[in-house]
Amino acid sequence: MQQFDLVIVGGGLAGTSLAVALRDSRLRIALIEPQPPRRSAGWDARIYAISPANARFLADIGIWRHLDPERLAPVRAMDVRGDGGGQLKFSAYDTGVDELAWIVESSLMACELWESAKRQSNVTLVPPGRPRSLEFRHDASLLALEDGSVLGARLIVGADGRDSWVRGAAGLDAQHSPYGEKGVVANFATSQGHRDTARQWFRDDGVLAWLPLPGNRISIVWSTPDDHADELVALPAQELCHRVAAAGENALGPLELLTPAAAFPLRLMRVPRTVAPRLALVGDAAHGIHPLSGHGINLGFQDARELAARLAATQAWHDIGDIRLLAGYQRARKEETLLLQTATDGLHRLFRHPAPALRSLRNLGLGLTDSLPLIKNTLARYALGAL
Ligand SMILES: Cc1cc2nc3c(=O)[nH]c(=O)nc-3n(C[C@H](O)[C@H](O)[C@H](O)COP(=O)(O)OP(=O)(O)OC[C@H]3O[C@@H](n4cnc5c(N)ncnc54)[C@H](O)[C@@H]3O)c2cc1C
Repeated sequence: MQQFDLVIVGGGLAGTSLAVALRDSRLRIALIEPQPPRRSAGWDARIYAISPANARFLADIGIWRHLDPERLAPVRAMDVRGDGGGQLKFSAYDTGVDELAWIVESSLMACELWESAKRQSNVTLVPPGRPRSLEFRHDASLLALEDGSVLGARLIVGADGRDSWVRGAAGLDAQHSPYGEKGVVANFATSQGHRDTARQWFRDDGVLAWLPLPGNRISIVWSTPDDHADELVALPAQELCHRVAAAGENALGPLELLTPAAAFPLRLMRVPRTVAPRLALVGDAAHGIHPLSGHGINLGFQDARELAARLAATQAWHDIGDIRLLAGYQRARKEETLLLQTATDGLHRLFRHPAPALRSLRNLGLGLTDSLPLIKNTLARYALGAL
């Protein structure tokens, strides 16, 4: 049996960032990932809006400066349109920050985190394999892999995504509420410059976001009912360009498709307990959120940051699998997660409701918020993790 202090199951963005955030600690770490990341040849269709707080986290753990600046796009303004004339505009200048967010390709961050973890002397990357069984003893967790090997650890972290095997093996409950929608993602070249502006339309057929990429390019996330999402993904390139341009009020002129559209099913997932003795969950294993506010991996990075800080601060004689330590991590992350899940879900419900009275109210709400700079900028700063 191989002995570690910490075994992280899942080498996605959340799991790998946890390992890298512990690079200066004395902890011996195993990272288990069946599919190490690969850099996509062109533009990655998975794009994230990274908050300033998480850009700082990635800088602190030595990742940000290695990301190719030519592939990063700042968001300096945001333009949100309701489905009945409501409009809300944010700018970095008014909010008092340099940028509202950074748009970064998923594989760019994933590869950089992976390479960094690979170079770490306290990390063992377990060759591609999957866990088979998990057993909790009072002094250790034992994780058996499909190849027959067994890893012993004082703490197991489940970072294995929203269908987390670890969460199930530990008997932690997850409440799933599917939205009946998919997030359609694709990248386009635009005819006009986007001026570092992210645009979002709350429409009858869902929420459409246009996120700026470097140059005259955008990445879209169209969260829309399953049937419509399937229809969009099956459209010929030219037709998809017309549909996306028209849905976005032709704000940047005609579009040209750069990466084929892909669709991801969306669901709200609440996990009441994210820790147990010798176990903690991070990232999508611990929460699921609608992408309309772009908070998924932002929450995941903050989970990793918080857990790493608590583990790194323990003295050598302290047990990192102690439930009191882990309960502190759970408490620290609960409020932000619940707040963002509830706010995002509430916004989604408000705009999905067909009642005409609600349509007027939500558009009035956008306009009203737009005319109250103090509230608007406080909201923006909170949502950005800049407060
Ligand atoms: C359409 C869409 C748009 C989004 N846009 C944004 C955005 O703009 N901003 C944002 O912050 N978030 C966004 N998100 C959310 C974001 O994609 C997720 O929050 C993020 O990918 C979660 O990362 P993770 O590392 O927790 O999990 P994952 O990315 O799911 O990684 C889990 C890892 O665990 C591995 N794994 C799985 N099972 C096992 C197992 N049994 N054993 C070992 N390893 C295993 C997998 O191979 C994978 O590498 C969006 C989501 C969608 C669907």
